[in-house]
Amino acid sequence: MKFLFLLLFVPYFLHAQQAAPSAERISQHVKYLASDRMKGRGTGSRENDKAARYIIKQFRKLGLAPQGTDGYRQPFTAKVRRVVVPDSLRPTNNVLGFLNNDAPYTIVIGAHFDHLGMGKQGSSKAPQPEGQIHNGADDNASGVAGLLELARYFSQNAIKEPYNFLFIAFGAEELGLQGSRYFVNNPTLPLEKINFMTNMDMIGRYNAGQG
Ligand SMILES: [Zn+2]
Repeated sequence: MKFLFLLLFVPYFLHAQQAAPSAERISQHVKYLASDRMKGRGTGSRENDKAARYIIKQFRKLGLAPQGTDGYRQPFTAKVRRVVVPDSLRPTNNVLGFLNNDAPYTIVIGAHFDHLGMGKQGSSKAPQPEGQIHNGADDNASGVAGLLELARYFSQNAIKEPYNFLFIAFGAEELGLQGSRYFVNNPTLPLEKINFMTNMDMIGRYNAGQG
């Protein structure tokens, strides 16, 4: 009997343990994405692409299906219209991973992975932004870490939810929501099959006083 119990429940406990949210993993993602060597993940930069590759690596590890137009990537060109630099076009991506639960509808969980780079694309609050690394730990390494942890949870919890999940890390949000707009205009699954979307932006701003 004891043996049967173990046989039946040990896999469940293992799954539950693997899937449980982990502060350590969340902080690892934030530390990586917001580190100085990522130079603020400005749209069109090498480091922005490095962040995309990091997210792809995690999606692949979790067994999510690629749901972009080029594997996990949905490449698009972001337009920069700012007074700080001349107008320009910068290549970037959305990164999309799909958890198929064979359900009719899909929930989208999203977070943007770009930030302000080295302060040359506008939107910075620093008095002398140019040349300064805008790490963006809160905005939005925290949201991406949340996205990755939810992707882990839903893909490893051994429960087949009655919805599919589409995880999207959006590019070029700081340049005016360009990645999410591009996805809505060029959806990689029918929009009428999407139940709702939840967006995570700056979830690191925890204030104990506000509960
Ligand atoms: Zn943001």
